[in-house]
Amino acid sequence: MFLKHIAIIGGGIIGATAAFYLTRPTETDSVEVTLFDDGEGQATKAASGIISPWLSKRRNKRWYALAKRGAELIPELVHGAQLGSEVYEQTGTIVTRKSSEDLKALYTEAKEKAATTPAMGEVQLFSATQVGEKLPFLTTPPAGVFVSGGAKIDGAQFVNQLLDNAQAHHLKIVHGRAKFNSSGLITCDSQQVSFDRTIVATGAWMKATLAPLGLNLAVRPQKGQLIDISVHTKESWDTLPVMMPEGSSDIIPFAGGKLVIGATHEDDQQFDLTPTKTARDELLANAGAFISNLAKEQVVDMRVGTRAYTPDFGPFFGQLPTNPAISVGGGLGSSGLTTGPIIGYLLAKSVLGELDQDLSCYTKPVSDYLANL
Ligand SMILES: Cc1cc2nc3c(=O)[nH]c(=O)nc-3n(C[C@H](O)[C@H](O)[C@H](O)COP(=O)(O)OP(=O)(O)OC[C@H]3O[C@@H](n4cnc5c(N)ncnc54)[C@H](O)[C@@H]3O)c2cc1C
Repeated sequence: MFLKHIAIIGGGIIGATAAFYLTRPTETDSVEVTLFDDGEGQATKAASGIISPWLSKRRNKRWYALAKRGAELIPELVHGAQLGSEVYEQTGTIVTRKSSEDLKALYTEAKEKAATTPAMGEVQLFSATQVGEKLPFLTTPPAGVFVSGGAKIDGAQFVNQLLDNAQAHHLKIVHGRAKFNSSGLITCDSQQVSFDRTIVATGAWMKATLAPLGLNLAVRPQKGQLIDISVHTKESWDTLPVMMPEGSSDIIPFAGGKLVIGATHEDDQQFDLTPTKTARDELLANAGAFISNLAKEQVVDMRVGTRAYTPDFGPFFGQLPTNPAISVGGGLGSSGLTTGPIIGYLLAKSVLGELDQDLSCYTKPVSDYLANL
């Protein structure tokens, strides 16, 4: 017999991770989960896929604590769900700075952090020649700080495999848009259902999701585009590190000679999902600073997704103050592949009544992001 019927609205990285942890087999198998997702514009499936929060310029302490814990959880989750190297691989990341003084300061910061952060792995200061040896496709390599614990993750495969795993254990997926009515009942495809607990993880769309409950959530959309470039090579690229150049687009090499370049941050495009020539040319030009002779014909694909931002750029999660049966998690911005899994995990534990820790080191109260309509 199922003791708790739980709904998850939104099947991105938060929703899929929560579904995985809620449906892990237990002695009682006491939970049945229904996940509603319409998939439109999902940020997780469009993302570049870099996990390397430690040397970010952000100085938000809650965000850093959450991202640091997120980067530690992901390898455990990958192991627990038996995800392969096509989904997640610790290849290391190379972070650059434009001035040699800034690079030295970054290296000092990285060494200090690595001393108390085992997930960072080994830290090395690489000359331009050493970076060129690590990334042989670069024609003008910069010097950089190498962090061996950095990783790349395929958001689409991560979510699909977690959901496949959960479907084997009491997860039902409903493909479609779910809506609350004013008393918190959920309607999808004109059927109305009530659940004991609900997790809302609808990314950039969460303002609309919560509006029928009389709540005005401070979350806005941001369009992100990236390009896939095909490069002719006979070498295997599957373990090459990611490069994160200061003030430019990230360069992420994949097996088979694919380079992902991204991403744009477009604040004025609302929920538009059209790939644009302007973005393609900008991303190609950014990559061109390090790789000469790239042609637009080498762009084989473009991906577009919608990120969610709060006014203070901080992710939030927890119960709704007005309805504790509904928990929310979102506002992940540009680092949600790193912070999404830990939020999904903590929300799942909270819904199961298994959470015994104060979350204020990771998030401001959800009420800080809400006003009544
Ligand atoms: C181009 C790009 C590059 C990025 N690169 C990185 C990176 O390198 N590293 C990193 O850490 N992060 C990166 N990010 C950020 C990261 O992808 C996001 O922060 C994260 O994936 C957001 O996850 P989420 O689960 O909150 O939302 P989403 O992944 O957007 O999922 C929300 C889901 O809810 C669904 N939904 C919405 N409303 C409803 C409804 N009413 N009913 C049913 N379903 C609904 C949507 O269709 C969607 O499928 C990138 C983002 C973009 C766009």
